[in-house]
Amino acid sequence: MMRNLVITHSSMLNIDLHSHSTISDGMLSPSRLLAHAASRGVNILALTDHDDIAGLSEARHRALQENITLINGVEISVTWRSRTLHIIGLRINPEHPPLADGLEEIRDGRMDRAQAIAAQLDKYGIHGSLEGARAQAGESRLIGRTHFARFLASQGYAKDVKSVFKKFLVKGKPGHVSHVWTSLSEAIDWIRGSGGQAVIAHPARYKLGNNLLEQLLSEFCELGGAGIEVVSSSHTSEQTRQFAQLASRMNLYASCGSDYHGPGESYFDLGRLPALPPECTPIWSEWKISDIQKKSIQ
Ligand code: AMP
Ligand code: MN
Ligand code: MN
Ligand code: MN
Repeated sequence: MMRNLVITHSSMLNIDLHSHSTISDGMLSPSRLLAHAASRGVNILALTDHDDIAGLSEARHRALQENITLINGVEISVTWRSRTLHIIGLRINPEHPPLADGLEEIRDGRMDRAQAIAAQLDKYGIHGSLEGARAQAGESRLIGRTHFARFLASQGYAKDVKSVFKKFLVKGKPGHVSHVWTSLSEAIDWIRGSGGQAVIAHPARYKLGNNLLEQLLSEFCELGGAGIEVVSSSHTSEQTRQFAQLASRMNLYASCGSDYHGPGESYFDLGRLPALPPECTPIWSEWKISDIQKKSIQ
């Protein structure tokens, strides 16, 4: 008898495959994130912290208590043709050495970048930002721009995190530092080598023209990428339609994720994502719940 239950479209399915905890730049600890997901009716959640997998074991523990299926995830920072892209790994094995070591290297690189950001801000007359960002990062093993943004907002340099980004942390602004992350092919290799699937996060955010977008997607497919986020808090409904079509045309799976970072900092709360357009093949369409649970309990 087949014990594996293939996940099908169901009104009961509340799935979110992109979220952050305090292990990267989210505001809730992995346990609190899972508790919040449960309170919002989410039954399948991927924790996808930036460049770190250290939250997965705590999340898995809480997921069991909350009766949520946890998908082991990560969001890897990548440089492709001088642009930063985010590649989500789903159903990864966090213990796969090339993945774990590769992420550690990215985190080391982040530390250098944080020093460079602080040095730039220093020149601009804003002092103590490295210590400030580090304090915001708390137990996280990495420092991100969000930690700088929260520190600068707390010091009154702008009214909120979003405005700090606009004023200080994006290209052309005083605290911006260009950085080279890992390559697209390496990120995909780590993910696939660990048994996972690679997904391009929030593709509309990169503002690639049609040509570059086509090039990215064909390269991504050739390298063994599996899917793209079609539903994302970064996408308008028009962009969701556009990427749904593109996904079906390129034979890519579609994913959906809120990119939840915590109360007050996210456009979509957990459990409130619109459905994938009907032409999409969901990335979970061939996942077997019992396989996922086995992995989650590992
Ligand atoms: P980093 O990987 O350290 O460069 O930081 C990227 C993170 O910064 C993203 O994952 C978001 O959480 C946050 N972020 C990027 N751009 C913005 C923005 N314009 N407003 C608010 N948060 C942003
Ligand atoms: Mn983030
Ligand atoms: Mn991202
Ligand atoms: Mn994210």
